[in-house]
This record gives sequence, structure tokens and C-alpha cells, in this order.
Amino acid sequence: MMDEQEVVIIGAGIAGLATPRAGFEPAVKEKVENTGGVVVWGWAGFAVLLRGALRARRSCFPKLLEKALFECAGWVTNVETGTTQVTSFTGTSKCGDLGVRGLHRKVLLEALAEELPPNTVRFSSKLASIKTETLKDSSTVALLELEDGTLIRAKAVIGCDGVHSVVAQWLGLSGPIDSGRAAVRGLSVFPQGHGFDHEVRQFVKQGKRAGFLPLNDTDVYWFTTHYAAEEKELAVGDPLSIQREVTNNLAKSFPPEFLRVVHQADLSTLSWAPLKYRVPWALVTGQAHKGPITVAGDAFHPMTPDLAQGGGAALEDAVVLARNLAAAGLSNAERGVEQYVKERRWRAVGLIIGAYLSGWVQQGGRAGLSGWAVNWFRDHVFYRFVQPKIVDSVQYDCGVLPSVA
Ligand SMILES: Cc1cc2nc3c(=O)[nH]c(=O)nc-3n(C[C@H](O)[C@H](O)[C@H](O)COP(=O)(O)OP(=O)(O)OC[C@H]3O[C@@H](n4cnc5c(N)ncnc54)[C@H](O)[C@@H]3O)c2cc1C
Repeated sequence: MMDEQEVVIIGAGIAGLATPRAGFEPAVKEKVENTGGVVVWGWAGFAVLLRGALRARRSCFPKLLEKALFECAGWVTNVETGTTQVTSFTGTSKCGDLGVRGLHRKVLLEALAEELPPNTVRFSSKLASIKTETLKDSSTVALLELEDGTLIRAKAVIGCDGVHSVVAQWLGLSGPIDSGRAAVRGLSVFPQGHGFDHEVRQFVKQGKRAGFLPLNDTDVYWFTTHYAAEEKELAVGDPLSIQREVTNNLAKSFPPEFLRVVHQADLSTLSWAPLKYRVPWALVTGQAHKGPITVAGDAFHPMTPDLAQGGGAALEDAVVLARNLAAAGLSNAERGVEQYVKERRWRAVGLIIGAYLSGWVQQGGRAGLSGWAVNWFRDHVFYRFVQPKIVDSVQYDCGVLPSVA
């Protein structure tokens, strides 16, 4: 039996939960099982909504602002030289309402999910295949098959299915590639309070970067990034060995305050991941929509996490997509989807390039003269002169939804 839907969203991550806005009521299909509770999917990670999507955050996602801690600047210490400098999150602007907002990923997902009509998300619904059908009026509709055999016909399909998106693959976008860098990330809980100021602290040395940010009075998010080759085996390692690898190797010479945070990690939150991105020219030359089918969030523009923009960019996508679909009308979804891709393509290209370069410089070079040059550039030029410009360039107003314009 064919299930008829207007808009189907694949994946209930940040993009998938943010997209159902602006007058249409889509069905969201999420592959993971619902094991009870309000919102239980996703790892207990974290997301910072940095800079972009400002108007969107204020007018389209008001609940997010109430739940996030706000920072204008942080500190970065070179552990080899002992020098500390300020790193601005507001670029060359004064601290107004620009800056970083840090919040639990789970809190973010819950805040987005709370705003959806009941039963919008269906769990245990993994997309298996996609086809299209041309109707007599020459419009195109999507035919989806879920892994449990459910067949769905939809006027529009938005693939919000993350880095390894089935929808992006079907569209023919090239797969994400390895940046050669990897990250360990975790959440540490101090039931009696962590005692840190609410500020972002980062530590750099040759080929390594680490940092932490309190999310509230008890929880601290932390990360390390490093060249990936020597730690490949961590991908399948158990959390305890990931933690040991950080304290005994990756962050061995980092300040005691950072190691104290890592020692306190909630092991269930620890992750090791290679940092992947889509080559920017794939977005320029590739096809990010076909008929009424497109992608949003990481499925569209996976990027390395160095600008902390993946989550913010997913929210921007959601607003721009909803606005374009509403303007075109669902009977003309192809046009809405095409306009959305046109509006988002270059923004996504800029973010991917900015994140890649920012990560490469901040992590510092490998040994040798070129490594020394990268480190010198980072310590004397990047944080002072280049990073504020990058921050300025990623400020972006994606507009508002039609109902609140
Ligand atoms: C540890 C970590 C820290 C990060 N920190 C930041 C940060 O500080 N700031 C920031 O902006 N970004 C950050 N990011 C990136 C940010 O989390 C991502 O950019 C964001 O989650 C992308 O959201 P998404 O909805 O596109 O994809 P995802 O959150 O990956 O969601 C995809 C969803 O699709 C589902 N799915 C996949 N395949 C299928 C299928 N076939 N059928 C049905 N469902 C499917 C998955 O189960 C998942 O729920 C971080 C990422 C990580 C891993």
C-alpha cells in the first residue's frame, strides 16, 4: 500500500527537526529506534550555534536562545611557549548579540522537537531507496521505500540524513572525504560544580589542538584534534582506551586543568571520529537537487568542525528551504527546491573552505620548516588578524520564515 505524503524529511537530527516549519506539515522518518523518553536519539554530544543564522535564531528558534550560554571571546594558549591570547567570536564587531552560544546537543534537539506537532517523527524508519515518477501534468513526485517495506509517494523530499546521506548519494553528490585529521570529543560532568569560568579555553601545540567549554555549572564539553594516521585504531576502541589515549598521549603535555576535565569524562559520551568534508567544487559543479528532492544540513555540506558552524548552517538551511517551498507552493516544489539550492550553494562552499583552513592553521603544522611556519603564522598573525576577518565573513543573515517576516 502506498502512503501519500506532501513533504517527507529523512533524518531527525538538527536539520530534520528544524526544517518542518512555515506552513507545511511533513513526515519525518528517522532510522533509529525510539526507546522512550522525549527525544532519545543522537549522541549526548554538543553543538555550538556560532555567529550565523542570527535572525533565524531570534525569530524562528526562540527557545534555543533561552537554553544557551553566551560567549563573546575565549582564550587560546600555546602550551609550548606559554603565551595566551584572546580569540574573538565577534570578529571586528563589538560584543552585541554576536558570539558563540554553547548548548547540549540533546537540549538543542529537544527544543526543536518540542515545537513540532505530535507524531511528526516516526522512528525505526530507515530510507532504503528513492525513485521518481513523472505525473500527467509533467510534475515529478518522489517514490520512497523504507527498509521495513513501507512505500511513500511525496511531493517533496528533504534528505537530512547526515554525513553519509543516502539522498546525497542518490543525487550523485560526491561522498565526504577524509581531511587527514581526527577529533576526540566528550562531555564531562562535575556533580559538585566544575568551578571554571564560563569561557572557551583552547590549547595549541605542534599538530594538536584541544579545548573546553562549560555548558552550565556542572557539564563541560571538550575536544582534541590531531593528525589522524597514528590513531586510526581508536575508531573502534572502547571509551576507556580513547580516554587513556587522550590523557597519556594526545594531550599528555596539555595543562592540568584540561586533563582534569578529560579524567572526569562521562565515558558514554566519548567519541573518536575522522573529520570529513565534501570538496567545495562538488557543490559548485554537482547536483544538490533533482526534481523535488534535495538535501540539507550535513547531507548537503559536511564540513570539518573548526568554525563550529555545522549545526548553525543546518538551521540556516531549514529557514531558507521552508521560505522557498512556501513561496513556490507544494504543487511547484521543484521550483522551491531549486531556489533553495541556489540561495545556499555559495554560503555552503564558503563555510567548508573557511572551516578547513581554520582547522588546518589552528592545529598547527607537522615537524619541519613548513610546520614551524604554520605555527608562527597561527601564533603571530592568525588569531590577531585573520580569525576576526573569518568570523566577520561567516556572519550571515538567512532571513526569517514567511509567517514572521
Ligand atoms: C561531536 C561533535 C561536535 C560538534 N560540534 C559542533 C559545534 O560546536 N557547532 C556546530 O555548529 N556543529 C557542530 N557539530 C556538527 C553538527 O553537530 C552537525 O553539523 C549537525 O549535527 C548536522 O545536523 P544534521 O541534522 O544535518 O545531521 P545529523 O545530526 O547527523 O542527523 C542525521 C540524522 O539522520 C538519520 N539518518 C541517517 N540515515 C538515515 C536513513 N537512511 N533513514 C532515516 N534516517 C537516517 C540519523 O540517524 C540522524 O538522526 C559537531 C558534530 C560532532 C559529531
